[in-house]
Amino acid sequence: DGITLERVRDYVWEIEQAESEGMNVPARVLASEALLEEIKEDDSLEQIRNVTHLPGIQQYALCMPDAHQGYGFPVGGVAAIDAENGCISPGGVGFDINCGVRMVKTNLTYDDVEGREEELVDALFEAVPSGLGGGGVVDGDAETIEGILERGMDWALEEGYAVREDLHHCEDEGYRPDADPSAVSKKAKDRGMNQIGSLGSGNHFLEVQRVTDVFDDEVADAYGLEAEQIVVLIHCGSRGLGHQVCSDYLRRIEDEHPDFLKSLPDKNLAAAPAGSELAEEYYGAMCAAINFAWVNRQLIMYQTRQVFEDVFEAPWEDLGMELLYDVAHNIAKKEVHEIDGEEKEVYVHRKGATRAFPAGHPEVPSAYRGVGQPVIIPGSMGAGSYVLRGGSESMATTFGSTAHGAGRLMSRTQAKQEFWGGDVQEELREENAIYVKAQSGATIAEEAPGVYKDVDEVIEVSDSLDIGDKVVRTYPVCNIKG
Ligand code: 5GP
Ligand code: MN
Ligand code: MN
Repeated sequence: DGITLERVRDYVWEIEQAESEGMNVPARVLASEALLEEIKEDDSLEQIRNVTHLPGIQQYALCMPDAHQGYGFPVGGVAAIDAENGCISPGGVGFDINCGVRMVKTNLTYDDVEGREEELVDALFEAVPSGLGGGGVVDGDAETIEGILERGMDWALEEGYAVREDLHHCEDEGYRPDADPSAVSKKAKDRGMNQIGSLGSGNHFLEVQRVTDVFDDEVADAYGLEAEQIVVLIHCGSRGLGHQVCSDYLRRIEDEHPDFLKSLPDKNLAAAPAGSELAEEYYGAMCAAINFAWVNRQLIMYQTRQVFEDVFEAPWEDLGMELLYDVAHNIAKKEVHEIDGEEKEVYVHRKGATRAFPAGHPEVPSAYRGVGQPVIIPGSMGAGSYVLRGGSESMATTFGSTAHGAGRLMSRTQAKQEFWGGDVQEELREENAIYVKAQSGATIAEEAPGVYKDVDEVIEVSDSLDIGDKVVRTYPVCNIKG
């Protein structure tokens, strides 16, 4: 509805605070002109403007270059909100709590895999539970769920599904100590019970890729990445458990803080006031769901290592299958940021946004501290994906964040009208030698490469603003989808 954007500098656009009543801060959109035109097509701008109404929001609400409309907040949204006097918003995290990606390295090259894609994709499809149906890598009982929610990757280590090094290569070592399993409903736990180690459906995937471009030799070397190398990208989150946590707390906000909710411009922005019992409970439950998602991705990696052992007839250690990094892109965390010259504790909401901490930051694992945190950004099953490193300007510009993908151009419904799964699958195979296997053709249509924005353009914005710098680009070899 005619929202005015002022150009601040290259790739930075602002909705000024004076734009409309009730804005506590301006909103900023990081985008090229072409991406901005796409962002204007849906409700993203209105949504990011609404986010500025949240009490306690600091500096500005941000849209990353891959932004598109979501539930309350845009996907590709970042907001830092005062953890003492502000609020925390489940819509600023998303339904799939700790949806995220991890990249597993190998010492194989494309030569080793070429001609064996079908064998590999079949074996992966068989070993990694996917789709809407139940079933995970681990048969869950109540005690298992409690352990996972409470201890995250430590649980996986204790149970023999992880090695110590895997934990060092996860955001937060794969463990949120603030997790409070007692704040997670029985219904949520029951939903998680038979989904421990499962991809889920739709947008989640496991993709074998090869490195096609190296942009920064020094950082690629520090990450152990080189041209032609085979890597595996795993994208999934906290399944029904996280979804239920989000729904439960949205409902409770409606019941327990109706007046606060009424003061917000969009009901879907529902937030719990900082310091309230509900805010604490949501934070504890969300952290537990975060732990669940880390274990989920770990178990899928565990299965992947087994498959590679079988197919390439060597122990995974000999195949060099180390975890490069695991990073969340739907999360809110208490972090301390320098704001107007002062250190302040804020809930940083990253919804469809990836943490991108720079070199020297104490929370970057020691192995990478000299160069910055690996930031993994998927593109699509028919385009490139990227590994970036957290850039020198990320703390000052985006509360240490960047994009999380190419970002959708159209809804799933529209995608199914535009594309036919079988055709997409065939074309990818015949023209690009990409082998895709999915539980349903509809999923392939909904996730067709054409439904996404140009990932190279998104990355260009991140790189130019020095919030996340290009390290390598990868290209799909084979892909399984739920
Ligand atoms: P989301 O978490 O928002 O569902 O998706 C993250 C990003 O993953 C999307 O914005 C899109 O760019 C990317 N993506 C979706 N499907 C695939 C896929 O099959 N392969 C790769 N490499 N990227 C994908
Ligand atoms: Mn997800
Ligand atoms: Mn995701």
